[in-house]
Amino acid sequence: MIVFDLVCAPLGHRFEGWFASSDDFAAQQDRGLVSCPQCDSTQVSKAPMAPAVARKGNQRSETPAVPAVMSGPVPQEIQQVIARLATMQAEALKVSTWVGADFAEQSREMHYGEREVETIHGQATLDDAKALLEEGIAVMPLPFPVAPPDELN
Ligand SMILES: [Zn+2]
Repeated sequence: MIVFDLVCAPLGHRFEGWFASSDDFAAQQDRGLVSCPQCDSTQVSKAPMAPAVARKGNQRSETPAVPAVMSGPVPQEIQQVIARLATMQAEALKVSTWVGADFAEQSREMHYGEREVETIHGQATLDDAKALLEEGIAVMPLPFPVAPPDELN
């Protein structure tokens, strides 16, 4: 067995994966069998080697995700993909209920049968999201920022 430090492309989550060999990893990755435990993305690759020191000490101090922007000549194909993603997110949000900062609480209530199950979206910190995933509650990061509905007027 061999352990690889892996990183997901969408959000840069780092995690470890065990494989029989380097070829086994490549084969599983090809078939989309390797997914990020935090966001389920199958766009994963081997992470650049972290300095040994960083792993021992404050491994918890992860770099917070920063909203990224792009400018300059962006290939049209990529613009189209991003535009399609944005449209898909907008479609998904139409059938989802905004719960704002109550997201973690309401996700738990649904999971434990204390509330009617429906699609919800809202705000959660990275720690909230991690805690939910650890409890076996499926949460998914949205690719684009969402303005709280009550701030739109
Ligand atoms: Zn991830």
